[in-house]
Amino acid sequence: MKALVFHGESGLRLEQVAEPALADGEVRVHVGAAGVCGSDLGWFRGGMPSVSTPVVPGHEFGGMLDDGTSVVINPMVGCGTCLRCAAGNTHLCAQRRIIGIHRDGAYAERVSVPRHNVVAADGLDPVRAALVEPIANGVHGWDRAGRPTGAVAIIGAGAIGMCLLHVLRSKGLSNIMVVDPMSQRCEAARAAGATATSTRLTGQFDAVFDAAGTRATRADAIACTAAGGTTALLGLHDDVLSVSAAGVIVGDKTIAGCFGYSEPAFREAVALAASIDAPWVAPVPIDDARQVVEALVAGRGTPGAIKTMIRFTDVGAFGT
Ligand SMILES: [Zn+2]
Ligand SMILES: [Zn+2]
Repeated sequence: MKALVFHGESGLRLEQVAEPALADGEVRVHVGAAGVCGSDLGWFRGGMPSVSTPVVPGHEFGGMLDDGTSVVINPMVGCGTCLRCAAGNTHLCAQRRIIGIHRDGAYAERVSVPRHNVVAADGLDPVRAALVEPIANGVHGWDRAGRPTGAVAIIGAGAIGMCLLHVLRSKGLSNIMVVDPMSQRCEAARAAGATATSTRLTGQFDAVFDAAGTRATRADAIACTAAGGTTALLGLHDDVLSVSAAGVIVGDKTIAGCFGYSEPAFREAVALAASIDAPWVAPVPIDDARQVVEALVAGRGTPGAIKTMIRFTDVGAFGT
């Protein structure tokens, strides 16, 4: 079968590889589409030297089981025995491994996954199925922000920001400011229901979600969080968080790190994915994927193509 394999320093290669082995308790998934994540691109740029290669990336995906059942895969693999796993918080398990990082993922025609990680996805087309994972990040971010219902802001209209916007709209929020330096992305956010857009965040909000994660956007996010509110940090661009502690303390503000999602949040995301419209997804056939992903790694993406997805032709109809 075909797979786009990451070889560390020597980069990505489209290869013919052996069919994935099925261990006890695992099932085979015929991949419909696999999202190319910002964290994948950071990894390909050298950002995760501790992960062993070669490995097949791809942690955002759905597809079909051998019997034709439509499924989405939760890529967080916990130990299954600790208290955090028992509570559905596999993202917090000390032994957590991620499909598509620590074991072969979905940049391939087929992938084997633990049966425990399979969630039924009746009626979801491949694009929406592959958006479940970033939507789950949005559900988790909303939870971590204390489930705000008033005025909120999202910094960064990339895939996480757009999926978070969908989650907030689905939760009934009607005052959502979206901030992005790129006009095409602001336009996409307005088309998806943002109340207003801007290139720089100003004002005060009950919650601010920073899906960009630069030093500057984190500072803006915290400064524009109203007294008593929450700044939810999702983006991982820079490692530094540098703000005045007095502003946080006197403002009684909460700063919440947001990583991954619980198993209940992932299942909720499967339901929310059915209603997302994502004209900002750009599908790429597996045969062209290496070229396109390498362009993204080099920073030469198309601004309107907020999310690149690798598509596989042997599964169903593609698109919305
Ligand atoms: Zn991702
Ligand atoms: Zn565990």
